[in-house]
Amino acid sequence: MSLKEIGEFGFIRRIGGGCLSRPQGVVRGIGDDAAAFRTDGRLLALVTTDMLVERVHFLRAATGGRDLGHKSLAVNLSDIAAMGGTAREAFVAIAVPDDLSLSYLEELFAGMKALAQAHEVNILGGDTTRSAADLVISVTVYGTVAEAELLTRDGARPGDVIFCTGCLGDSRAGLHLILEEVGADTPALRALLAAHHRPSPHLAEGRFLAGRPGVHAAIDVSDGLSSDVGHIAAQSRVGARLVADDIPVSEQLQDYCRRFGRSALEYALAGGEDYTLLVAAAAEAAGDLARDFEKAFERPLHAIGVITAGAGIELVEPGGRIRPIPPTGWDHFKRS
Ligand SMILES: [Mg+2]
Repeated sequence: MSLKEIGEFGFIRRIGGGCLSRPQGVVRGIGDDAAAFRTDGRLLALVTTDMLVERVHFLRAATGGRDLGHKSLAVNLSDIAAMGGTAREAFVAIAVPDDLSLSYLEELFAGMKALAQAHEVNILGGDTTRSAADLVISVTVYGTVAEAELLTRDGARPGDVIFCTGCLGDSRAGLHLILEEVGADTPALRALLAAHHRPSPHLAEGRFLAGRPGVHAAIDVSDGLSSDVGHIAAQSRVGARLVADDIPVSEQLQDYCRRFGRSALEYALAGGEDYTLLVAAAAEAAGDLARDFEKAFERPLHAIGVITAGAGIELVEPGGRIRPIPPTGWDHFKRS
């Protein structure tokens, strides 16, 4: 049997047992956006790691060094955001092929440092090694959060409102522009490319939500809305119903879909790499939460559905028909 047959999540289930020798201090281990554990300090420690591999996650010819550096840190900061944490320190391991120029590497670190500075994150170390062929970057980020404010995937309850902190689907449309070698000849298409190359981790949004009463569960949208809502539902042992008309899609995605005959809803549901946050919040807290979020961030917190007592994810289509939706997001190993 290969990794391809069981997928990333099947693999995690197989190797997850026997990982803890000292379980007492562990608040979250494998299976959430980041690990959370007690130290001697007042706050929980959060640690997350994410690897970007050439030809699996990016095409070097289509990705500038600065963008790649930004993204390799951003995806990790997003996982800290999804736990409600503050990102503190980063470690960067990189495997460099012989044909990579020093200037590309310098650009890569410039992109990473600019994002790190914007979020007051230190880069404290890492490892550099040679690669036989492909460029590989693995970033580990350490963060902190008060235990009472920790956001996890498993706390959603039936009746909770599902919120999303930003538009969905742009990044996948940007990826299609790259793969189909479509020149980004308009501001709208350039915005889609930017969404793919330079996602903004929602750290401030995560901190805001973590401090609010009634927020029960959170995840960042990395695999795709349908998959990531599915992770919350599976870990919380609930179902979810999303309302198609309420799922936020950007003007630029709508432009792109009109021009290329695509469905913005499909991009939003299955796209992935949006790095917005999804949260489930108590219905009685939802009104205040949305109002205060909008006041703080000058854009809406989008209510896109509800948590249900059933199992599985459903979609209320624009005409009102309800259909089950498969978790069709991103799984690197199962992808054909
Ligand atoms: Mg995540």
